[in-house]
Amino acid sequence: MHQLGDLQFHVVSGGPFFLDGGAMFGIIPRPLWTRLYAPDDRGRIRLDTNCLLVRTGRECLLIDTGNGPKMDEKERSIFGLAPGAPLLTNLAELGVSPADVTMVLFSHLHMDHCGGASHWDADRLVPTFPNARFVAQRREWEDALTNRSHMRTSYRRENLNPLAVSGRLELLDGDAAIAPGVSVQVTGGHTPGHQVVLLRGGGRTAVFLGDICPTPAHFRPPCNMAYDMDPYATMLAKAELLARAADEDWLVLFDHEPDRKAVRIRRDGEEFVALPVE
Ligand SMILES: [Zn+2]
Repeated sequence: MHQLGDLQFHVVSGGPFFLDGGAMFGIIPRPLWTRLYAPDDRGRIRLDTNCLLVRTGRECLLIDTGNGPKMDEKERSIFGLAPGAPLLTNLAELGVSPADVTMVLFSHLHMDHCGGASHWDADRLVPTFPNARFVAQRREWEDALTNRSHMRTSYRRENLNPLAVSGRLELLDGDAAIAPGVSVQVTGGHTPGHQVVLLRGGGRTAVFLGDICPTPAHFRPPCNMAYDMDPYATMLAKAELLARAADEDWLVLFDHEPDRKAVRIRRDGEEFVALPVE
């Protein structure tokens, strides 16, 4: 548990996730990334789908939701998903039921970030959080609906439709304050409507970097995912955020890192280095 003034939050796993190691590290040569993330016999590396549960006093806010339970057996095997609904199991361990969540905020709408917001109830797709507002950038929502992506299977109607018909979808137009101590900053890069989340309280700041910097192994400027729509924009946004995080001693939270999920960072010459947090 992390406490920033009145604001309290946990990193909550939405379940394990395996992706192709080469795709995760874009132009970085294989000998470099395999030292840090050993690929399995299918070339995949072990990742996680880290979400945040934030309590502000008024809101019980969930940031991102992992892949969720809707994929068929074949896809579950391809992506190495765990059985059941790991997000809900992990929330229950914190004493949080789906009905307790008042807002779900999405960094972006790729399947590994919004799939957990809905599930099959018999033959109907329904939102998993019955009392929550669902918040995303309008640009991201429109791109997702029109599948504006070079990856045809990342934006899925089965994830979007239940939110669209819920009557509880809220779309943002750019940077915004979401709740006391919680704000979003649009970065573009990974997707044009991608946003990071800033948490502030007690004079401290934490940042959830989303897919702008999915693990601490992505600190270096050229180290971007091959999935990025605009890698150069990712690089610029990442450099700006990491510099502020180092200079202002922010807590830095990663969406796909399986082990070092929360770190502080410091500069080491041109580079950034991750430091463990208590
Ligand atoms: Zn992702």
